[in-house]
Amino acid sequence: MLAGPQLTALQRTIGNQALIRLLKGHDRAERRFNVGDSAQHALLEQEESTPDSEGARRSDPGNVSGIGDELGVQRTLASPRFAGDPTLESIHEGTSTLSEGSEGAPVRKVQHAIHDAGILFSSFGTDSSFGRQTRQRVLQFQSSHGITTDPRGEVGQGTINELDGMFPNVALPTTAGDPYGFSEMKDVLCQWNAPLINDLQSLTVKIVGGLQWADEEFDGTGWVPNPMLGAGETAGTNIIVATNGFTNEEVARSLYHEYQHARSPRAYRSQPWAEEETRVFEMETYWAIERGITPDPTLTTTDPDTGEVEMDTAGVESTVQSYPGVDAANPGEVIGKVGTNQVQVALPNGSIITRNAVAGDSVPGPRQILPPEVAVPSSDWVC
Ligand SMILES: [Zn+2]
Repeated sequence: MLAGPQLTALQRTIGNQALIRLLKGHDRAERRFNVGDSAQHALLEQEESTPDSEGARRSDPGNVSGIGDELGVQRTLASPRFAGDPTLESIHEGTSTLSEGSEGAPVRKVQHAIHDAGILFSSFGTDSSFGRQTRQRVLQFQSSHGITTDPRGEVGQGTINELDGMFPNVALPTTAGDPYGFSEMKDVLCQWNAPLINDLQSLTVKIVGGLQWADEEFDGTGWVPNPMLGAGETAGTNIIVATNGFTNEEVARSLYHEYQHARSPRAYRSQPWAEEETRVFEMETYWAIERGITPDPTLTTTDPDTGEVEMDTAGVESTVQSYPGVDAANPGEVIGKVGTNQVQVALPNGSIITRNAVAGDSVPGPRQILPPEVAVPSSDWVC
Protein backbone atom coordinates (compact mmCIF):
# COMPACT_ATOMS: atom_id res chain seq x y z
CA MET A 1 0.00 0.00 0.00
CA LEU A 2 1.24 3.45 -0.88
CA ALA A 3 2.08 5.91 1.81
CA GLY A 4 -0.11 8.96 2.16
CA PRO A 5 1.81 11.57 0.19
CA GLN A 6 2.55 9.14 -2.65
CA LEU A 7 -1.07 8.18 -2.85
CA THR A 8 -2.09 11.81 -2.96
CA ALA A 9 0.35 12.50 -5.75
CA LEU A 10 -0.82 9.50 -7.71
CA GLN A 11 -4.44 10.52 -7.40
CA ARG A 12 -3.65 14.03 -8.46
CA THR A 13 -1.88 12.74 -11.54
CA ILE A 14 -4.72 10.45 -12.39
CA GLY A 15 -7.12 13.25 -11.70
CA ASN A 16 -5.46 15.55 -14.19
CA GLN A 17 -5.40 12.90 -16.86
CA ALA A 18 -8.96 12.12 -15.99
CA LEU A 19 -9.88 15.74 -16.44
CA ILE A 20 -8.56 15.66 -19.94
CA ARG A 21 -10.26 12.39 -20.49
CA LEU A 22 -13.58 13.76 -19.36
CA LEU A 23 -13.18 16.16 -22.23
CA LYS A 24 -12.10 13.53 -24.66
CA GLY A 25 -14.76 11.13 -23.60
CA HIS A 26 -17.40 13.68 -24.14
CA ASP A 27 -15.90 14.75 -27.38
CA ARG A 28 -16.42 11.29 -28.72
CA ALA A 29 -19.89 11.18 -27.31
CA GLU A 30 -20.72 14.46 -28.99
CA ARG A 31 -19.89 13.16 -32.42
CA ARG A 32 -22.17 10.25 -31.84
CA PHE A 33 -24.88 12.55 -30.59
CA ASN A 34 -25.07 14.20 -33.95
CA VAL A 35 -25.48 10.92 -35.76
CA GLY A 36 -28.79 10.35 -34.07
CA ASP A 37 -29.59 9.88 -30.46
CA SER A 38 -33.18 9.08 -31.10
CA ALA A 39 -34.25 8.04 -27.64
CA GLN A 40 -32.98 11.15 -25.96
CA HIS A 41 -34.19 13.33 -28.76
CA ALA A 42 -37.66 11.92 -28.52
CA LEU A 43 -37.63 12.69 -24.82
CA LEU A 44 -36.53 16.24 -25.43
CA GLU A 45 -39.02 16.78 -28.21
CA GLN A 46 -41.76 16.15 -25.72
CA GLU A 47 -40.68 19.25 -23.88
CA GLU A 48 -42.07 22.59 -24.80
CA SER A 49 -40.21 24.24 -27.61
CA THR A 50 -40.50 27.78 -26.37
CA PRO A 51 -37.16 29.57 -26.27
CA ASP A 52 -36.01 30.46 -22.81
CA SER A 53 -32.99 32.69 -22.94
CA GLU A 54 -33.21 33.50 -26.62
CA GLY A 55 -36.13 35.34 -28.09
CA ALA A 56 -38.59 35.15 -25.29
CA ARG A 57 -36.59 37.19 -22.85
CA ARG A 58 -37.98 40.52 -21.87
CA SER A 59 -35.97 43.54 -22.81
CA ASP A 60 -35.49 44.73 -19.23
CA PRO A 61 -32.40 43.02 -17.88
CA GLY A 62 -33.73 42.23 -14.46
CA ASN A 63 -36.55 42.89 -12.12
CA VAL A 64 -35.27 41.89 -8.74
CA SER A 65 -37.34 44.15 -6.59
CA GLY A 66 -37.14 45.11 -2.99
CA ILE A 67 -34.49 46.13 -0.56
CA GLY A 68 -31.10 44.51 -0.34
CA ASP A 69 -29.27 43.76 2.84
CA GLU A 70 -29.91 46.63 5.18
CA LEU A 71 -28.90 46.30 8.81
CA GLY A 72 -31.11 44.18 10.96
CA VAL A 73 -32.07 41.68 8.29
CA GLN A 74 -31.62 38.22 9.69
CA ARG A 75 -29.77 35.96 7.30
CA THR A 76 -31.07 32.53 7.81
CA LEU A 77 -30.77 30.66 4.53
CA ALA A 78 -28.90 27.53 5.57
CA SER A 79 -28.04 25.72 2.35
CA PRO A 80 -24.49 26.27 1.07
CA ARG A 81 -26.10 26.80 -2.34
CA PHE A 82 -27.88 29.95 -1.22
CA ALA A 83 -26.55 31.24 2.11
CA GLY A 84 -25.08 34.73 1.94
CA ASP A 85 -26.41 35.60 -1.52
CA PRO A 86 -27.94 39.06 -0.94
CA THR A 87 -30.71 38.63 -3.50
CA LEU A 88 -31.69 35.19 -2.27
CA GLU A 89 -31.52 36.32 1.34
CA SER A 90 -33.91 39.17 0.54
CA ILE A 91 -36.25 36.69 -1.12
CA HIS A 92 -36.02 34.63 2.02
CA GLU A 93 -37.00 37.74 3.98
CA GLY A 94 -39.98 38.24 1.74
CA THR A 95 -38.80 41.53 0.30
CA SER A 96 -38.16 40.48 -3.30
CA THR A 97 -38.74 37.74 -5.86
CA LEU A 98 -37.13 36.36 -8.98
CA SER A 99 -39.42 36.35 -11.99
CA GLU A 100 -39.40 36.29 -15.76
CA GLY A 101 -36.72 38.73 -16.92
CA SER A 102 -34.43 38.27 -13.90
CA GLU A 103 -30.81 37.46 -14.65
CA GLY A 104 -27.57 36.51 -12.99
CA ALA A 105 -26.08 34.30 -10.31
CA PRO A 106 -29.19 34.14 -8.08
CA VAL A 107 -31.19 32.84 -11.06
CA ARG A 108 -28.51 30.28 -11.84
CA LYS A 109 -28.40 29.06 -8.24
CA VAL A 110 -32.15 28.54 -8.16
CA GLN A 111 -32.18 26.89 -11.59
CA HIS A 112 -29.38 24.54 -10.56
CA ALA A 113 -31.17 23.59 -7.34
CA ILE A 114 -34.46 22.93 -9.17
CA HIS A 115 -32.48 20.85 -11.69
CA ASP A 116 -30.90 18.87 -8.86
CA ALA A 117 -34.38 18.45 -7.40
CA GLY A 118 -35.18 16.48 -10.56
CA ILE A 119 -36.92 19.10 -12.71
CA LEU A 120 -34.56 19.50 -15.65
CA PHE A 121 -34.06 22.57 -17.84
CA SER A 122 -34.16 20.59 -21.03
CA SER A 123 -34.13 23.43 -23.54
CA PHE A 124 -31.40 25.84 -22.45
CA GLY A 125 -29.99 24.45 -19.22
CA THR A 126 -29.24 26.44 -16.09
CA ASP A 127 -28.27 29.56 -18.00
CA SER A 128 -28.71 32.32 -15.38
CA SER A 129 -31.58 33.75 -17.39
CA PHE A 130 -35.15 33.58 -16.09
CA GLY A 131 -37.12 32.97 -19.27
CA ARG A 132 -40.30 31.17 -20.07
CA GLN A 133 -38.88 27.70 -19.41
CA THR A 134 -37.62 28.77 -16.01
CA ARG A 135 -41.07 30.13 -15.17
CA GLN A 136 -42.56 26.77 -16.16
CA ARG A 137 -40.02 24.88 -14.08
CA VAL A 138 -40.70 27.08 -11.05
CA LEU A 139 -44.42 26.45 -11.52
CA GLN A 140 -43.74 22.71 -11.74
CA PHE A 141 -41.67 22.85 -8.57
CA GLN A 142 -44.32 24.87 -6.75
CA SER A 143 -47.13 22.51 -7.68
CA SER A 144 -45.19 19.34 -6.90
CA HIS A 145 -44.20 20.74 -3.49
CA GLY A 146 -47.54 22.32 -2.63
CA ILE A 147 -46.20 25.86 -2.52
CA THR A 148 -49.10 28.27 -2.78
CA THR A 149 -47.79 31.35 -0.98
CA ASP A 150 -45.61 32.70 -3.82
CA PRO A 151 -46.82 34.45 -6.96
CA ARG A 152 -47.25 31.67 -9.52
CA GLY A 153 -44.04 31.06 -11.43
CA GLU A 154 -41.99 33.46 -9.31
CA VAL A 155 -39.34 32.51 -6.78
CA GLY A 156 -40.54 33.94 -3.51
CA GLN A 157 -40.16 33.08 0.14
CA GLY A 158 -42.03 29.78 -0.06
CA THR A 159 -40.02 28.50 -3.01
CA ILE A 160 -36.59 29.52 -1.74
CA ASN A 161 -37.32 28.11 1.72
CA GLU A 162 -38.43 24.78 0.26
CA LEU A 163 -35.28 24.56 -1.87
CA ASP A 164 -33.14 25.63 1.08
CA GLY A 165 -34.44 22.69 3.09
CA MET A 166 -33.79 20.20 0.29
CA PHE A 167 -30.06 20.94 0.13
CA PRO A 168 -28.96 21.16 3.75
CA ASN A 169 -25.50 21.90 5.03
CA VAL A 170 -24.68 18.28 5.71
CA ALA A 171 -21.25 16.67 5.99
CA LEU A 172 -20.21 14.06 3.47
CA PRO A 173 -20.37 10.43 4.63
CA THR A 174 -17.24 9.42 6.51
CA THR A 175 -16.42 6.98 3.69
CA ALA A 176 -16.38 9.68 1.00
CA GLY A 177 -12.58 9.69 0.81
CA ASP A 178 -12.22 5.91 0.82
CA PRO A 179 -11.41 3.90 -2.31
CA TYR A 180 -14.50 3.39 -4.45
CA GLY A 181 -17.29 1.07 -3.37
CA PHE A 182 -20.69 1.16 -5.09
CA SER A 183 -22.93 1.79 -2.11
CA GLU A 184 -20.48 4.21 -0.46
CA MET A 185 -20.26 6.17 -3.72
CA LYS A 186 -24.05 6.21 -3.89
CA ASP A 187 -24.19 7.47 -0.31
CA VAL A 188 -22.29 10.60 -1.41
CA LEU A 189 -24.94 11.38 -4.03
CA CYS A 190 -28.01 10.32 -2.10
CA GLN A 191 -27.72 13.15 0.42
CA TRP A 192 -28.47 15.85 -2.18
CA ASN A 193 -29.03 14.04 -5.45
CA ALA A 194 -31.53 11.26 -4.92
CA PRO A 195 -33.44 12.41 -8.06
CA LEU A 196 -30.26 11.88 -10.11
CA ILE A 197 -29.80 8.39 -8.69
CA ASN A 198 -33.43 7.66 -9.45
CA ASP A 199 -33.13 8.97 -13.01
CA LEU A 200 -30.16 6.66 -13.65
CA GLN A 201 -32.75 3.86 -13.78
CA SER A 202 -33.70 5.28 -17.18
CA LEU A 203 -30.11 5.47 -18.44
CA THR A 204 -27.48 2.81 -19.06
CA VAL A 205 -24.61 2.95 -16.62
CA LYS A 206 -21.52 0.81 -16.74
CA ILE A 207 -18.99 0.98 -13.93
CA VAL A 208 -15.54 -0.13 -14.98
CA GLY A 209 -12.08 -0.39 -13.52
CA GLY A 210 -10.60 2.02 -16.00
CA LEU A 211 -10.95 3.74 -19.32
CA GLN A 212 -7.84 4.01 -21.44
CA TRP A 213 -7.41 5.43 -24.90
CA ALA A 214 -4.46 4.46 -27.12
CA ASP A 215 -4.06 8.00 -28.47
CA GLU A 216 -1.10 9.23 -30.46
CA GLU A 217 0.54 12.64 -30.46
CA PHE A 218 2.44 14.38 -33.25
CA ASP A 219 5.85 15.48 -31.96
CA GLY A 220 6.66 17.66 -34.96
CA THR A 221 8.11 14.91 -37.08
CA GLY A 222 6.11 11.79 -36.35
CA TRP A 223 3.42 10.13 -34.27
CA VAL A 224 4.25 8.80 -30.80
CA PRO A 225 2.04 6.84 -28.39
CA ASN A 226 0.18 9.04 -25.90
CA PRO A 227 -2.07 6.73 -23.89
CA MET A 228 -4.68 8.48 -21.79
CA LEU A 229 -6.58 7.38 -18.74
CA GLY A 230 -10.10 8.60 -18.17
CA ALA A 231 -12.76 9.03 -15.54
CA GLY A 232 -15.89 8.88 -17.61
CA GLU A 233 -17.57 8.80 -20.99
CA THR A 234 -21.10 9.47 -22.16
CA ALA A 235 -22.54 8.58 -25.53
CA GLY A 236 -26.20 9.46 -25.80
CA THR A 237 -27.77 7.98 -22.70
CA ASN A 238 -24.95 5.47 -22.11
CA ILE A 239 -22.67 6.40 -19.25
CA ILE A 240 -19.39 4.75 -18.31
CA VAL A 241 -17.46 5.76 -15.20
CA ALA A 242 -14.04 4.52 -14.12
CA THR A 243 -13.22 3.64 -10.53
CA ASN A 244 -9.67 2.31 -10.20
CA GLY A 245 -7.59 4.70 -8.12
CA PHE A 246 -10.56 6.94 -7.39
CA THR A 247 -12.32 7.66 -4.12
CA ASN A 248 -16.07 7.51 -3.58
CA GLU A 249 -16.42 11.28 -3.85
CA GLU A 250 -14.32 11.38 -7.04
CA VAL A 251 -16.44 8.71 -8.69
CA ALA A 252 -19.57 10.51 -7.47
CA ARG A 253 -18.27 13.68 -9.11
CA SER A 254 -17.58 11.83 -12.38
CA LEU A 255 -21.05 10.35 -12.33
CA TYR A 256 -22.58 13.78 -11.64
CA HIS A 257 -20.59 15.13 -14.61
CA GLU A 258 -21.53 12.33 -17.01
CA TYR A 259 -25.17 12.50 -15.96
CA GLN A 260 -25.27 16.15 -17.09
CA HIS A 261 -24.10 15.08 -20.55
CA ALA A 262 -26.69 12.31 -20.70
CA ARG A 263 -29.40 14.87 -19.92
CA SER A 264 -27.89 17.65 -21.98
CA PRO A 265 -30.24 20.51 -22.87
CA ARG A 266 -31.39 20.60 -26.46
CA ALA A 267 -29.71 23.94 -27.23
CA TYR A 268 -26.31 22.32 -26.75
CA ARG A 269 -26.93 19.56 -29.27
CA SER A 270 -26.17 21.86 -32.17
CA GLN A 271 -23.20 23.60 -30.52
CA PRO A 272 -19.52 22.66 -30.65
CA TRP A 273 -18.70 20.08 -27.99
CA ALA A 274 -16.52 22.63 -26.16
CA GLU A 275 -19.66 24.62 -25.29
CA GLU A 276 -21.26 21.54 -23.77
CA GLU A 277 -18.08 20.60 -21.94
CA THR A 278 -17.80 24.11 -20.50
CA ARG A 279 -21.42 23.98 -19.36
CA VAL A 280 -20.91 20.63 -17.62
CA PHE A 281 -17.60 21.58 -15.99
CA GLU A 282 -19.22 24.70 -14.56
CA MET A 283 -22.22 22.79 -13.22
CA GLU A 284 -19.96 20.12 -11.75
CA THR A 285 -17.73 22.67 -10.08
CA TYR A 286 -20.48 24.83 -8.59
CA TRP A 287 -22.12 21.68 -7.29
CA ALA A 288 -18.90 20.20 -5.87
CA ILE A 289 -18.00 23.40 -4.02
CA GLU A 290 -21.47 23.76 -2.54
CA ARG A 291 -21.71 20.08 -1.70
CA GLY A 292 -18.33 20.04 0.04
CA ILE A 293 -16.78 17.69 -2.51
CA THR A 294 -13.22 18.53 -3.49
CA PRO A 295 -13.50 20.23 -6.88
CA ASP A 296 -10.93 19.91 -9.61
CA PRO A 297 -8.21 22.44 -8.71
CA THR A 298 -7.76 23.54 -12.33
CA LEU A 299 -11.39 24.66 -12.41
CA THR A 300 -11.34 26.77 -9.27
CA THR A 301 -9.58 29.69 -7.64
CA THR A 302 -9.01 30.23 -3.95
CA ASP A 303 -9.47 33.68 -2.45
CA PRO A 304 -6.10 34.40 -0.74
CA ASP A 305 -7.79 36.33 2.09
CA THR A 306 -10.85 34.26 2.90
CA GLY A 307 -9.64 30.88 1.62
CA GLU A 308 -12.94 30.55 -0.17
CA VAL A 309 -12.89 28.28 -3.23
CA GLU A 310 -14.73 29.61 -6.25
CA MET A 311 -15.62 28.39 -9.71
CA ASP A 312 -13.05 29.77 -12.15
CA THR A 313 -14.54 30.55 -15.55
CA ALA A 314 -11.09 31.23 -17.01
CA GLY A 315 -9.81 27.93 -15.62
CA VAL A 316 -12.66 26.04 -17.22
CA GLU A 317 -12.06 27.81 -20.51
CA SER A 318 -8.33 27.09 -20.57
CA THR A 319 -8.95 23.48 -19.61
CA VAL A 320 -11.39 23.07 -22.45
CA GLN A 321 -9.03 24.91 -24.81
CA SER A 322 -6.16 22.66 -23.76
CA TYR A 323 -7.96 19.70 -25.22
CA PRO A 324 -5.84 18.31 -28.08
CA GLY A 325 -6.91 19.78 -31.38
CA VAL A 326 -8.76 22.68 -29.82
CA ASP A 327 -6.90 25.96 -29.77
CA ALA A 328 -7.34 29.36 -31.31
CA ALA A 329 -4.44 28.92 -33.76
CA ASN A 330 -5.69 25.56 -35.01
CA PRO A 331 -9.45 25.62 -34.62
CA GLY A 332 -11.50 22.49 -34.75
CA GLU A 333 -11.08 19.02 -33.43
CA VAL A 334 -8.52 16.56 -34.76
CA ILE A 335 -10.41 13.39 -35.55
CA GLY A 336 -7.87 11.26 -37.38
CA LYS A 337 -4.59 10.85 -39.22
CA VAL A 338 -4.21 11.19 -42.97
CA GLY A 339 -1.06 9.56 -44.28
CA THR A 340 1.98 10.13 -42.10
CA ASN A 341 1.93 13.88 -41.52
CA GLN A 342 -1.57 15.19 -42.05
CA VAL A 343 -4.72 15.22 -39.94
CA GLN A 344 -8.42 15.35 -40.51
CA VAL A 345 -10.09 18.13 -38.54
CA ALA A 346 -13.75 18.72 -37.75
CA LEU A 347 -14.35 22.47 -37.69
CA PRO A 348 -16.89 24.14 -35.39
CA ASN A 349 -19.10 24.85 -38.42
CA GLY A 350 -19.40 21.12 -39.05
CA SER A 351 -17.16 20.84 -42.10
CA ILE A 352 -14.18 18.46 -42.17
CA ILE A 353 -10.83 19.53 -43.56
CA THR A 354 -7.38 18.02 -43.95
CA ARG A 355 -4.33 19.99 -42.86
CA ASN A 356 -0.69 19.34 -42.02
CA ALA A 357 -0.14 17.96 -38.53
CA VAL A 358 1.47 20.34 -36.05
CA ALA A 359 3.35 19.45 -32.87
CA GLY A 360 0.88 18.72 -30.11
CA ASP A 361 -1.86 17.39 -32.37
CA SER A 362 -3.36 14.31 -30.81
CA VAL A 363 -5.46 11.72 -32.56
CA PRO A 364 -7.90 9.46 -30.78
CA GLY A 365 -7.01 5.80 -30.56
CA PRO A 366 -9.12 2.78 -29.65
CA ARG A 367 -10.65 2.90 -26.20
CA GLN A 368 -10.00 0.00 -23.90
CA ILE A 369 -12.04 -0.86 -20.83
CA LEU A 370 -9.99 -2.14 -17.91
CA PRO A 371 -11.71 -4.70 -15.65
CA PRO A 372 -13.84 -5.13 -13.70
CA GLU A 373 -16.76 -4.16 -15.93
CA VAL A 374 -20.16 -3.99 -14.29
CA ALA A 375 -23.42 -3.07 -16.00
CA VAL A 376 -25.40 -1.67 -13.06
CA PRO A 377 -28.91 -3.16 -12.89
CA SER A 378 -31.43 -0.33 -12.93
CA SER A 379 -32.92 -1.64 -9.69
CA ASP A 380 -29.66 -0.74 -7.94
CA TRP A 381 -30.26 2.95 -8.56
CA VAL A 382 -32.22 3.68 -5.42
CA CYS A 383 -31.23 5.65 -2.38
ZN1 LIG B 1 -17.59 15.96 -20.05
